[in-house]
Amino acid sequence: MTTTTNPQTTADTLRGAVRGTVVTRGDPSYDEARRVYNALHDRRPAVVVHAVDAGDVIAAVLHAREHGLPLAVRGGSHSVAGFGTVDDGLVVDLSRMRGVRVDPEARTARAEGGATWGDFNHATHAFGLATTGGVVSSTGIGGLTLGGGMGHLARRYGLSCDNLIAADVVTAEGTLVSCDADRNADLFWALRGGGGNFGVAVSLAYRLHPVTDVFGGLSCYPLDGDVARAWRELIADSPEELNSILVLALGPEEPFLPERWHGRPICAAFTCFSGPEAEDEKVLARLDGLGPVIGRFMERMPYPVINTLFDEQLPAGLYHYWKGNFSRELSDGAIAVHTEYGATMPSLESDTAIFPIDGACHRVGPEETAFAYRDAVFSHSFGGTWTDPADSDRNIAWTRAYDTALRPHTQEGGYVNFMDTDDQNRVRVNYRQNYDRLRTVKRRYDPDNVFRLNQNIAP
Ligand code: FAD
Repeated sequence: MTTTTNPQTTADTLRGAVRGTVVTRGDPSYDEARRVYNALHDRRPAVVVHAVDAGDVIAAVLHAREHGLPLAVRGGSHSVAGFGTVDDGLVVDLSRMRGVRVDPEARTARAEGGATWGDFNHATHAFGLATTGGVVSSTGIGGLTLGGGMGHLARRYGLSCDNLIAADVVTAEGTLVSCDADRNADLFWALRGGGGNFGVAVSLAYRLHPVTDVFGGLSCYPLDGDVARAWRELIADSPEELNSILVLALGPEEPFLPERWHGRPICAAFTCFSGPEAEDEKVLARLDGLGPVIGRFMERMPYPVINTLFDEQLPAGLYHYWKGNFSRELSDGAIAVHTEYGATMPSLESDTAIFPIDGACHRVGPEETAFAYRDAVFSHSFGGTWTDPADSDRNIAWTRAYDTALRPHTQEGGYVNFMDTDDQNRVRVNYRQNYDRLRTVKRRYDPDNVFRLNQNIAP
């Protein structure tokens, strides 16, 4: 007698229902199919479904529910917390759903839920258009947008979620729901910051802006609190066309940095100026004023290129453990903590990145979208990134100690997209005044908490 609990039999049923690929243990492609970006999460799902359309996603969600399998959703696979995979469960992998359709007249683009920012930027750049997205091109548009989305155009055009204008979502019931400002507006509100709690976004539509070339790159300085203080002033009095992310790291082995700085603590302004070329020199002068420049790589480049500059340093397969906090100001106390931990980075690949999230991000009200921290000016992300699993404990301990030291200088909640699984106790404060409303939306669209592998808003 066959039973529906035999994994092979149930997988065969699923194979009959989807047009994409269903991979189970024992299949030659199983090890590749189960791999996620962060090597720390070496999980063994029962089934991985490489969906090719909304129908496949519906079949996969219904299958997981019917067989009581925990469900993980994966787009770009960059979840540092490892939410895109699960032991003994079902993974819906969207990496074959990456099409992007641009409407240059309306200045909008609709992308499938598994597209990366590389896919998206390439498609929109052809029309001289862009929107705020991640600074590494292999990050997925799905996870990044649903959690908020910080990038080089944020000060000028808002977070990625502020540019989201519509989405098609497969809900826990296996139905496809379209949402925007008018249709299912509660779901549309929750998607803009509430993460993957509400369903699988099979497509996301964005507002675009005229951005073609930018002046950008890295200016490097010795690690020094005075540089951070000068950078703080740069953010306070620069136009919104100028974005600069303060990075603390060990000096990379790059030709633009003299050898004596390789492996030594440095800080860098990772800058993107999307204003007129005639003002590039002024930007350079401001960056010169931040401190003694020890190395520089700055030039005019197409907007998609600035979001690939770190791709090579951050391939899939490294180990990561990160934290994310917000603050209204970059206080001297916070700078002291950053410089202390910047001086003891546990590995060459580790870093701190302080993103400015003022300007257009502040022109959206704290309750207008689920993203609650509209008063935050800085987003502090930091953590260990390493290559040898033997170094895991050291990197994780360093990141936790750094987080403990920084908390008194930051706000209560932080950025869900940079937090790890051990930050679930912060979910309520991450959403502040919006948490209760998010729970109401969760109860409506996912009362059984089928989508729970995320910074979870329990129904
Ligand atoms: P995945 O692992 O595929 O997905 C993570 C989770 O998001 C899923 O488990 C699911 O809950 C949800 N999800 C993803 N896609 C969908 C979908 N289509 N529908 C429903 N739920 C979905 N963040 C920034 O804001 N700015 C940055 O510049 C930035 N840079 C980064 C660079 C690197 C190298 C990394 C590793 C992360 C970076 N992040 C950045 C953080 C990033 O926003 C999160 O890691 C995000 O979750 C990645 O999304 P993903 O689709 O690639 O990940």
